[in-house]
Amino acid sequence: MSFSVEKVRADFPVLAREVNGQPLAYLDSAASAQKPNAVIDAEADLYRHGYAAVHRGIHTLSAEATQRMENVRAQAAKFLNARLPEEIVFVRGTTEGINLVANSWGKSQLRAGDNLVISTMEHHANIVPWQMLCERAGAELRVLPVNQDGTLKMEALPGLLDEQTRLVAITHVSNVLGTENPIQEIISAAHAVGAKVLIDGAQAVMHHAVDVQALDCDFYVFSGHKLYGPTGIGILYVKEAILQAMPPWEGGGSMIAQVSLTEGTTYAAAPWRFEAGTPNTAGIIGLGAAMSYVQAIGLEEIGDYERSLMRYALEQLKNVPDLTVYGPDSRLGVIAFNLGKHHAYDVGSFLDNYGIAVRTGHHCAMPLMHFYGVPAMCRASLAMYNTEEEVDRLVAGLIRIHRLLG
Ligand code: PMP
Repeated sequence: MSFSVEKVRADFPVLAREVNGQPLAYLDSAASAQKPNAVIDAEADLYRHGYAAVHRGIHTLSAEATQRMENVRAQAAKFLNARLPEEIVFVRGTTEGINLVANSWGKSQLRAGDNLVISTMEHHANIVPWQMLCERAGAELRVLPVNQDGTLKMEALPGLLDEQTRLVAITHVSNVLGTENPIQEIISAAHAVGAKVLIDGAQAVMHHAVDVQALDCDFYVFSGHKLYGPTGIGILYVKEAILQAMPPWEGGGSMIAQVSLTEGTTYAAAPWRFEAGTPNTAGIIGLGAAMSYVQAIGLEEIGDYERSLMRYALEQLKNVPDLTVYGPDSRLGVIAFNLGKHHAYDVGSFLDNYGIAVRTGHHCAMPLMHFYGVPAMCRASLAMYNTEEEVDRLVAGLIRIHRLLG
């Protein structure tokens, strides 16, 4: 099937609206993507025709909703090419997935003297849970540095890994620089010293297919809302043997086998042991619709289109005077930049006046801002529904702001 951006755009109702008297140019999908009708309708359809609490019910609606939810688990397993649906845990998003791993696997595995490795380009969600864990366990948090061009300093990796390294937690694609990291190489190096590997896939899964078996990673996590799905739902993949051995994290309903006030509590099998409380059923159904939607278009087709749009954007942005673009030429999804010495907030506000939505701030990556010596950056995201015309508007807008602000 050939990719048609016009056809894709027609599936996203919000893209038809105006902002500040201009057609919306939504260049903030890396923060959160817009939703196609397929996702909106799937959630609404559940609430209209089939909603009930899952798991506990004997009645038809509850059984149907449970089945639909478990179908999405199987679908997510296929989406990541996991071996089993039971390797998939529903979480609120990437943040909760990483916190789950830190508090369950990490807490049970990490000892004083152990170490974990992250990188300078991590999102705070892949930094802070590990800092908290290391502090508690008396373990050391080691950091793989980045090069000025926004790639990882891979030659430093062997010096960071030893027999005490328990985990390498690394982002697949940087949410600031767009760098696609050589995770295959990192996974092999980590496994060679007996360490596990967690991949933060929040900025990767919407750009190309991911195969967790081929990667051989131990944990892979992503958020539904960046994959054109609903907020409040995400996927944590954990290799079966590791997940089976992990203790529960949150306690409550649905994660137990037996609860006794005198004899204590036994827990449900994985992955249900990690899903305490009433789940986000509508979010799960919506995420299922989102995965179906991108797969129907084809992740390869999406990737090809996005790559060519990215090449176009990087080329056109060269026409903007005083623009600093951060990150490598070969990148996915995002372009972070600063215009002269102007604060990103000012530039972002001007762009908003022109109907162009970009992200401004530290992008939950303060260590990376420190590395580049700036308090903030603007970030334009390019998703499958963005167009060359929107890129042209961004470029024209930046040239105009440069003229106005000097
Ligand atoms: N990691 C990366 C690379 C991200 O881009 C984000 C979202 N900005 C997160 C983690 C956190 O995702 P969420 O807020 O959906 O939990």
